[in-house]
Amino acid sequence: MATITLRPGRERPVIQRHPWVFSGAVASVRGEPVDGEPVDILAPSGDWLARGLWSGHSQIRARLCTWDPNQQLNEEWLRSGIARAVSGRAGLADGAGGACRLIFSESDGLPGLIVDRYGDYLTVQILTQGMEARRNELVRALADMLAPRGIFERSDNDMREKEGLPPSDGLLWGEEPPDQITLRPTAPPGSSATPPILLADLRAGQKTGTYLDQAINRARVAAYCKGANVLDCFSYSGGFSAYAARAGAASLTLIDSSPAALDMARQNLALNEIATPADYVEGNVFKVLRAYRAEGRRFDVIVLDPPKFANSQGQVNHATRGYKDINWLAMQLLSPGGTLATFSCSGLISPDLFQKIVFGASVDAGRDVQIIERLGQSPDHPILLTFPESEYLKGFVCRVW
Ligand code: SAH
Repeated sequence: MATITLRPGRERPVIQRHPWVFSGAVASVRGEPVDGEPVDILAPSGDWLARGLWSGHSQIRARLCTWDPNQQLNEEWLRSGIARAVSGRAGLADGAGGACRLIFSESDGLPGLIVDRYGDYLTVQILTQGMEARRNELVRALADMLAPRGIFERSDNDMREKEGLPPSDGLLWGEEPPDQITLRPTAPPGSSATPPILLADLRAGQKTGTYLDQAINRARVAAYCKGANVLDCFSYSGGFSAYAARAGAASLTLIDSSPAALDMARQNLALNEIATPADYVEGNVFKVLRAYRAEGRRFDVIVLDPPKFANSQGQVNHATRGYKDINWLAMQLLSPGGTLATFSCSGLISPDLFQKIVFGASVDAGRDVQIIERLGQSPDHPILLTFPESEYLKGFVCRVW
């Protein structure tokens, strides 16, 4: 097996089980590691530290999978990782109605692998050289262990590109999933409103079909929507709106730049026989909010759930300005005592930084803003303590005076 020796001072994160070895931490490589194959990580002293999977094209040269020198990264390792991840989802509230993230990459000790269950089907994202090299073993293991009707690949092509991998999508095993899967969430404990039915498009929808990470937050935000005029910014297929309507919203305004997303939102609201007046606005949230401000429009609840603004460290400043801008605009559009549910799914924007951004927006908007709830990703997206990067979705429910 090839070995990587770390530069002096760079062993600490590895000892503390952070799963990434960046190119800059590598002092020397012995042997000729093959993409996707195991490599041993050594301290500058030569001591064995960990074993991971090599990726020669990526800035993350190795993704670490075990800190036990006796553990080989073979099919049995893969199967036991899958079994552990799946057992960890047992007993979680079914907030998404038969859909669940079963495997969340590094957080579940399986870097580069994401598996979501949608009813009888699985969607899989194979994002790194290490998982690509195990593609056949992986599909076999998922088919044997979880007995789905079909396994469909929806790999995120930006991430594959960083790994030097070509795009990859399509049926991997079993039957093609239907065009749409109907998800029937159960009500969270203590909630009086019945959750809406939501459609997921596994093959062409965003992410792997829906935003499972927001599943628990939709019911939380709906609790503020009774009798409210609700503005759902970056609505996608209308998850927040459908919950808001079920909770008794007076009106809905959904903004998204994607006509396909708004079509799905229309279908979702129709499917639930929601009679709440709804306005579907195709446009850029940054511009539409400015136009609403000029018109003097007011809302009682505003949801801001934008896409990831920061994909790299170099984009953090620009992303910060973007988050501040939409929060500042939304605060000005809220009636006094209104509710702002604001999210960021950029892993590079920490919860602390996000709070500072919302604070900056409140000062510039001249409004008193109280955080009344802190929200995060749904529990099927666990945050691994040794890998703080796995905490990516954060949100605040704020009261804006
Ligand atoms: N709130 C949704 C998920 C939002 S995902 C849910 O709960 O399911 C982000 C959405 O923002 C995508 O649908 C994307 O089409 C849309 N989008 C991205 N940039 C936008 C912009 N500048 N203006 C409006 N919509 C945008």
